[in-house]
Amino acid sequence: MLIDMHMHEKTFSADSYLSLEEIVAIARQKGLDGVCITDHDSMGLREAAEAYSKKTGFPIFTGIEFYSLQGDILAFGIEEYPPERIDAQDFVDMVRAQGGITISAHPFRNNRRGLEENLDIVTGLDAIEVLNGSTLPDAIKKAELYAKKLGLAMTGASDCHIPDKVGVYATWFPEEIRSVQELVEAVRAKACRPAYFQDGAYHIYGC
Ligand SMILES: [Zn+2]
Repeated sequence: MLIDMHMHEKTFSADSYLSLEEIVAIARQKGLDGVCITDHDSMGLREAAEAYSKKTGFPIFTGIEFYSLQGDILAFGIEEYPPERIDAQDFVDMVRAQGGITISAHPFRNNRRGLEENLDIVTGLDAIEVLNGSTLPDAIKKAELYAKKLGLAMTGASDCHIPDKVGVYATWFPEEIRSVQELVEAVRAKACRPAYFQDGAYHIYGC
């Protein structure tokens, strides 16, 4: 199962040009099996996304991209999140306490919004986003080396804000994912691999 795990929808991400309808239409066209909406510091779209998922039969899971004081962290499986920026470690602990997972988004992207070397300090992360649609090859390689060094799961995602980017990267799961809870469990079990879209199909990264 292929899921793009980091996407921005325009209602709650001011820097996105994408509607949920567009995201799902393009995702289907490309051959994705599901998408995750991870708006900046908001899970405001969750109810609408769940309703649209039911209506279309297309899996849509809502998480968040939280801008911690040390950089962006994706989280899934939570009900509550801080109203303002807090330390990365405090956010990770807060998510864990709710039974959720955290993923370091684009840790070495050149926009100073990744955790960078804080990866050595923050404990309790579940995964590192190795493939990110706005990240250059050197930073992708570095993220992969860190994931291996720290023994963390690796994910892939487009981080899309415009139609052309939807689904350029995704995460492959060997099992079917039917709920956020199953997504959380799969990542925690490291039952996932980054994937990329090339020549009209998805390929598992590193294979
Ligand atoms: Zn993002």
